[in-house]
Amino acid sequence: MNYRRLGKSGLKLSEFSYGSWVTFSFQLDASIATECMKTAYDAGVNFFDNAEAYAEGQSEVIMGKVLRDMEWPRDSYCVSSKVFWGGEKPTQRGLSRKHIHDACHAALKRLRVDYLDLFFCHRPDRQTPIEETVRAMDSLIRQGKVLYWGTSEWSADEIRAAYGEAKQHNLEPPTMEQPQYNCFVRDKMEKEYLRLFEDEGLGTTIWSPLASGILTGKYGDGIPSGSRMALDIDFLKGRLESEVGKNMIHKTKTLTSLSDGIGISLVDLSLGWCLKNPNVSTVILGASNVDQLKENLKAAEAVDKLTPDVMERIEAVVQSKPEAWTDW
Ligand code: NDP
Repeated sequence: MNYRRLGKSGLKLSEFSYGSWVTFSFQLDASIATECMKTAYDAGVNFFDNAEAYAEGQSEVIMGKVLRDMEWPRDSYCVSSKVFWGGEKPTQRGLSRKHIHDACHAALKRLRVDYLDLFFCHRPDRQTPIEETVRAMDSLIRQGKVLYWGTSEWSADEIRAAYGEAKQHNLEPPTMEQPQYNCFVRDKMEKEYLRLFEDEGLGTTIWSPLASGILTGKYGDGIPSGSRMALDIDFLKGRLESEVGKNMIHKTKTLTSLSDGIGISLVDLSLGWCLKNPNVSTVILGASNVDQLKENLKAAEAVDKLTPDVMERIEAVVQSKPEAWTDW
């Protein structure tokens, strides 16, 4: 396992980490979650990703049980939570000081840890002043309950506003952002955030590296039973059945021929492609069983096969590279 700095911070995360969205509780019970987390940890994974919203807190309950049962030294791994969607009541959602405080304490209990290594604002909250959110995160860090705070799917302007508040009031700035990133979804990582990487040393923990499984090629002939798209998640199904989704599946077939031609799998190609971007601090893997996880962890070995020529051939298939900023 290779380790990468989380942006300009001193924290070194494994280049592959493991997350629990959709899987823990819906697809995996505690015993398979234990097997998966153990497989990941034994392979050198040192970051496990979670959120208050995942399975309405149950995903953190399962992860907390595994962390307790495994008795890994607390200084040998990192665990995260995310705040935004804690419940239906007005005080249970968003990024007010109250909800950030309550969400952090609830996550600590569910995960059975004394502190969160990483704590993300799961989405921007346009109804809370940015100063309130930055102060609430700073306060948790000063209390030792959170080590690094960050954002997820914020615009570059919103992240810059957080840096501005932190600098003006001498508060802890965000360290990392968690955007979606894969061969098909690239704008934030390859365009919008570029100045933040350069100017602020923003780290990234990227999600859906396999586009929810589409980049394994498994949806080429319809939706296999037991797969994520067979679950009742409307927005995922809707996207799969849209023109965008059909186009992705079509391109995935060509990518499979390309990966076959260089002797690697489509999973290797897709995950290795994410690792090629030096602004990625860690690729969060999702896997609904141990075999998938083992297969995905092996993808680091394929990076050497992704030569500049192969990367150009991938580009010619996906045609998703964002247009560069005009350099006047
Ligand atoms: P992926 O895009 O890698 O999708 C994972 C899913 O793809 C698996 O659960 C499995 O689904 C399928 N899959 C994975 N590997 C294989 C394989 N080798 N063969 C066949 N099928 C495979 O990642 P996720 O979308 O899960 O995102 C990763 C993590 O990122 C999440 O767990 C979460 O921690 C985080 N995340 C953060 C978000 C945010 O807003 N900040 C949003 C979404 C995710 P199945 O077997 O069911 O078909």
